[in-house]
Amino acid sequence: MIRQYELVEKVKSYDPDVDEDIINRAYVFAMKAHGSQKRASGEAYFSHPVEVAYKLTQYRLDAASIVTALLHDTVEDTDVTLDSIEASFGKEIRGLVDGVTKLSRLEGKSENLKQAENFRKLLIAMSEDLRVLLVKLADRLHNMETLSHIKNPEKRQRIARETLEIYAALAERIGMRNIKEELQDLAFTELYPEARESIVTRMQFLREQGAAEVEKTKEVLREKLAAAGLGNATIQGREKKPYSIWKKMETKKISFEQLSDIVAFRISVDTIAECYQALGVIHAEWHTIPGRFKDYISTPKSNGYQSIHTSVLGPAQQRVEIQIRSHDMDEVADYGLAAHWSYKQGANAGKDGKKMRWIRELLEILEQSDNPEEFLENTKLEMYQDQVFCFTPKGDILAFPRGATPVDFAYGVHSGVGDTCVGAKINGRIVPLRTLLKNGDQVEIITSKTQTPSPSWERFVVTGKARSEIRKHIRVSQRTEYITLGRAILSKTFKQEGEEFIEKMIEPHLPHFNKKTVEDVIAEVGEGVISRQQVFEVVIGQKKPLPPSGVTSMLSSLSNPFRRKKAEAGTPMPIKGLIPGMAIHYAGCCHPIPGDRIVGIVTTGKGITIHTMDCETLENYSDSPERWIDVAWERDQNDATNIGRLKVNVSNETASLATVTNVIARENGNISNFKIINRSMDFFEILIDVEVRDVRHLGNIIANLRSKAVVQSVERWQT
Ligand code: MN
Repeated sequence: MIRQYELVEKVKSYDPDVDEDIINRAYVFAMKAHGSQKRASGEAYFSHPVEVAYKLTQYRLDAASIVTALLHDTVEDTDVTLDSIEASFGKEIRGLVDGVTKLSRLEGKSENLKQAENFRKLLIAMSEDLRVLLVKLADRLHNMETLSHIKNPEKRQRIARETLEIYAALAERIGMRNIKEELQDLAFTELYPEARESIVTRMQFLREQGAAEVEKTKEVLREKLAAAGLGNATIQGREKKPYSIWKKMETKKISFEQLSDIVAFRISVDTIAECYQALGVIHAEWHTIPGRFKDYISTPKSNGYQSIHTSVLGPAQQRVEIQIRSHDMDEVADYGLAAHWSYKQGANAGKDGKKMRWIRELLEILEQSDNPEEFLENTKLEMYQDQVFCFTPKGDILAFPRGATPVDFAYGVHSGVGDTCVGAKINGRIVPLRTLLKNGDQVEIITSKTQTPSPSWERFVVTGKARSEIRKHIRVSQRTEYITLGRAILSKTFKQEGEEFIEKMIEPHLPHFNKKTVEDVIAEVGEGVISRQQVFEVVIGQKKPLPPSGVTSMLSSLSNPFRRKKAEAGTPMPIKGLIPGMAIHYAGCCHPIPGDRIVGIVTTGKGITIHTMDCETLENYSDSPERWIDVAWERDQNDATNIGRLKVNVSNETASLATVTNVIARENGNISNFKIINRSMDFFEILIDVEVRDVRHLGNIIANLRSKAVVQSVERWQT
């Protein structure tokens, strides 16, 4: 096991000013916390966090990362709490340890590998800080190195698959090539031992066959480069890893016999100019193999990787794969951007105390990269912060926009699940349907076959799918309401004219209305798109002006400014001010029709009943104002959008209310609410909400009202 002083010395070797004390304290803290716990290997458990910390020194990480590595399993596996970590090591370390702990809790949850991409995004979204991810990767690497001590083969396989699909891919994303290759090879050994064995054997054979070739190729390359003035170039023959050879064989459908090129040559020079100079030398000397040239110097990979790749037919007419790059680029290729910048910091930054500098520089450099989209996709840990990733009970993982709720989740699973959703459990606990989902939540939707979507859900869902499904349902129930209303309107209208309304009468006239069914016509009457007069004229075939619809004679004559034109697409109900989710009914006593002034009364168990404003039955509710709902027919588009509330006192005499509403109508005000708050023998006291363009508009209305004899007083009413 690595000793305390060895670890500290290692960190000091690249960061002479490091806070030794905090590393020493973390070492002792973790050792005490893990006490006599043992690993599967029988070793002291504490050896694991120390190994993880030591691995990170290879990447020259800061003291906070090293301390986090030492403490990373204490919260999950011992009785240490985050509070005690904060007390001893401060907020930053608490945040980092918390991050690693959260990631650890997700281990083993990625069973469904179709979901690997979402799972990787979840890990990145939850990491928030690159260092959390680095500690987690080092943790996984050490666990893979000691995987053979786990007895259960299924468990070993599961961990290996997860490593390959999730963690190796993550390492690749942040450019940690060494970690990536090690993770891949360890997982490969566990998952496909025979395939790996075959490749290793073949590589051994090729190595024996061509060992001299490698040396000879290096020698020729060295000579040619030196002749061109590049005597300082370093040339390495680097054997490829079994896993990457296997991958290549799979994707390129290469057989073992065809597998020949297991060594890649790397030419490292000092400057970018020398890279291109070296490339010129090689291309001038040997034939290039088409399709194999890539210039990642002028266009770096999104993880920061830079290099020129080319393949030529080499001195012995064999394929030679060559990578050309500067020494700096070498550093990045092997250790990732993190190591590169921490290295530069150690060498140059001195005592400027900016220990986070490498991360900032990393982000800055990437921000300036040519492909911002790819950058966002692959490097910045702020990526995916606008999303949340949640598990189904089966372990599938679904992505949602931030702000999503269990209803979004339900519709995300299946529209049938959304439609019948009655409740939700998050991580086993029942929660309200409007609860915001968090990363890593496991969500279970409770359904009931008799449930239908509640229109109130539309207020809090954020996904388009949920919204459109809910709207679809609202539209269906709306249509039912429109048809009911349309029937009532037409029956009443026909009756007033001494005719009987029979639905079939409309049928011959469907082409006139350009509708397919009678119900379509009736629904549009209910919606106010087709007027009752139109239907009457077409069906009965005579043109006589219709009187106002009887019951509401006083106010319905005011329908003029409120007459509805063709309804706008997407207009929800003909009535506004409704409470989404509450059923609405049209009162049988007064039969409100579009244009009538109306009010909603909340009835227990029935939802909202719409009455005309002057309906006599409203008196029954005068003692329970809490049941009154301000509603109005949806009106035409109009630029009047501000609401002024007026308190008006009028004489209780014939048509006095009509006078008030007429004045408002003539002034192009739209009454959105009209409420009698006091009705005595002599006076009505009413509150009127008027939609107006502006204060002057409202002022005109007030002045005109005051000019009427029946109006005793008018005042702006502020509540
Ligand atoms: Mn661990």
